[in-house]
Amino acid sequence: MRFCCLSGNGRIVEANVCKRFLGVKAGVINCELNMSKPFDIELEKLTGQASYSAAVHGSGSGRRGTFFLETFGCQMNDHDSEKVAGLLLSRGYQQVETPEAASLILYNTCSIREKAAQKVFSRLGEYREKQGEGKVIGVLGCVAQQEGEDIFRRAPWVSLVCGSASYSKLPGMLAQLEAGKQRITGLDTDTDETFETEVTRRDNPWRAYLTIIEGCDKACSYCVVPYTRGPERSRASDSILREVRQLAELGYSEVQLLGQTVNSYADPTARKMRFSELLLAVAEVQGIRRVRFTTSHPSDFTPDIVKAIEREPKICDHVHLPVQSGSTRVLHAMQRTYSRGEYLEKITMIREASRPIGITTDIIVGFPGETESEFEETLSLLEEVQYDSMYSFKYSPRPNTPSLAMSDSIPEQEKSRRLAVLQDRQREIQERKHASLVGTLFEVLVSGKSRRDNQWSGYTTSHRMINFASQERELLGTYVQVRVTGAGPNNLLGEYAV
Ligand code: SAM
Ligand code: SF4
Repeated sequence: MRFCCLSGNGRIVEANVCKRFLGVKAGVINCELNMSKPFDIELEKLTGQASYSAAVHGSGSGRRGTFFLETFGCQMNDHDSEKVAGLLLSRGYQQVETPEAASLILYNTCSIREKAAQKVFSRLGEYREKQGEGKVIGVLGCVAQQEGEDIFRRAPWVSLVCGSASYSKLPGMLAQLEAGKQRITGLDTDTDETFETEVTRRDNPWRAYLTIIEGCDKACSYCVVPYTRGPERSRASDSILREVRQLAELGYSEVQLLGQTVNSYADPTARKMRFSELLLAVAEVQGIRRVRFTTSHPSDFTPDIVKAIEREPKICDHVHLPVQSGSTRVLHAMQRTYSRGEYLEKITMIREASRPIGITTDIIVGFPGETESEFEETLSLLEEVQYDSMYSFKYSPRPNTPSLAMSDSIPEQEKSRRLAVLQDRQREIQERKHASLVGTLFEVLVSGKSRRDNQWSGYTTSHRMINFASQERELLGTYVQVRVTGAGPNNLLGEYAV
């Protein structure tokens, strides 16, 4: 099974990750990351029930085929795939590790930049012969939404095209495919539904993702998300808290609340919980030790969020606050709804908190019309804020976005130069910051074990990665104290202290 995510430098990283099944309870399936074992879940065996689908949905939906699901893109896509996999498993499908072993091949896609979208079509090309073998091929996610039925023209071997706003209709669409329908689409974005599933097949046994707000109502001029994911829809606070309690019972100790603009959360129930109240309520759930949230939009980043972090140590010391540019003129052209000065006021508010909070960001270089001096404003903002980490991108013109009408005037070579300069500056900042942490003691949730003996890794609450050595036999999933002994630009080195 291949998973992809954006790395610290904004590149897409791929890894062939197989999983070992750990348990199923309360509609959640846990799998441990494991680099060598095959992953082949059979719910009937695992639950000891004749048909898990029957248990979840009543009788009638027995064993179906096998599916292979590949994911590209952000954490929200990863989590959507976890839910899609849960949905299929609960309908009696069996998940397999290779397209060869599958009767249904699903590809959950990202179209945020052109390269990501191009990759989808080249991967679909690889699947071409598979259709001849009687396999059903489906495209999910942002490319599905963006390209729509055109995918059938470019890749006629595809049978299912479904955007994320239509995932709740997937069972019906699959039933139609099972009944022999050749082509089916789910492209409606005019919905107030959020995608909630009874079973989620989770990839990480300690940290659980939870989407609390789907879609986006901002209208950044470069961005496809409002088009591909539809309008903003918040999930009911009682449903979120119910799921967090279930996760805690299962042994998850860290939850990460997700949304394209997570802090724009607007509780649709009569309780009308504010985002900061929701953070506090999640932290109160017994068994939860860490609450993360991403991504925050600067315009909706209000003082009560900082107060909640100050009040509740379980809310992580980390805010991801994308700025995109250090120039007010460019921000205005990007339709980002704040100026450089207003953004810096939010940074001051976060920096003045009673405990240090790590701040990370996203930056785009080479937006249409960005002058050299406007780019230098971004560099000076970097110096002023001293981010803990940054994701950076070259502007990529996207279909259906307002900036498509602007002339993409910065040559590719110049975009690459600006990106390299920006990344060099940030590397220097991170090296300085990390060096100043040598000797500091951090609590780390251990989430990785290297093939090399006694080498472990994990994250601090401020989302710094630490690699450390320990003779302990099993640390995965535990919280340990690690003292920093060395530092590089991207991570810290440490020694196990307790
Ligand atoms: N909702 C988040 C926010 O408001 O910042 C970001 C979501 S987007 C999936 C992640 C990042 O991709 C953005 O912050 C932006 O830096 C980058 N991005 C989005 N559209 C882009 C484009 N057309 N070209 C280059 N980078 C882009
Ligand atoms: Fe895209 Fe802007 Fe919405 Fe983020 S806030 S998803 S960048 S439109």
